[in-house]
Amino acid sequence: MRPATQTPAQHHPHWIACHDCDALYPVPRLAVGQKALCVRCGAVLLQRKRDTLGRSLAMAFACLVLFTLANSFPLLGLNIEGRVEYGAVISGVFELKHQGFSAMAALVFGVSILAPGLKIAGWLYVLLPLRLNRRLPGMTTVFRWIALLGPWAMAEVYMLGILVAVVKLADLATIEPGLSLYSFAAMIVAMAATDAMLEPHEIWERLESLK
Ligand SMILES: [Zn+2]
Repeated sequence: MRPATQTPAQHHPHWIACHDCDALYPVPRLAVGQKALCVRCGAVLLQRKRDTLGRSLAMAFACLVLFTLANSFPLLGLNIEGRVEYGAVISGVFELKHQGFSAMAALVFGVSILAPGLKIAGWLYVLLPLRLNRRLPGMTTVFRWIALLGPWAMAEVYMLGILVAVVKLADLATIEPGLSLYSFAAMIVAMAATDAMLEPHEIWERLESLK
């Protein structure tokens, strides 16, 4: 058997696959503001926006502030005939566990606190050093994990659950929205904005150039 010959990495062209139709293209060099479209289906292959790293980093910081607020203040207050009871996100988790719904409590904790928290921490761990041209151990692994975490950070589904509960409870008690509720809603928007601003291709390129 002949030994496998290895070509130096710089001789391999970089390829990009169309997300919609899987057509392969060599990665084009784009100027700021330009985008590359798939010839076959017209989908956007690559887009070079202005300072995506700085903007997504700023949004990730906003997410951190909103996440901290969402978990530090009451979510809702229930006013039943003058008796007001406040509940936070984490107290809901404990209450579910206390009532014997351990699996549900774990799920609520996972999708509303753990997954968004890890995603935000992961963004900051990768984006902040990249902005400063520094390299931290495990950055590539963390960035890969962020993509895997995506489907589990479903704070918006939790938010929908809260709204349904609020509508159903409206006849029984007066609902007083807490600071956490507004922060939670703003965090969902900020996380979606960070996702939209991030250019994973650019991040991978920067990670590679730091090696
Ligand atoms: Zn295509």
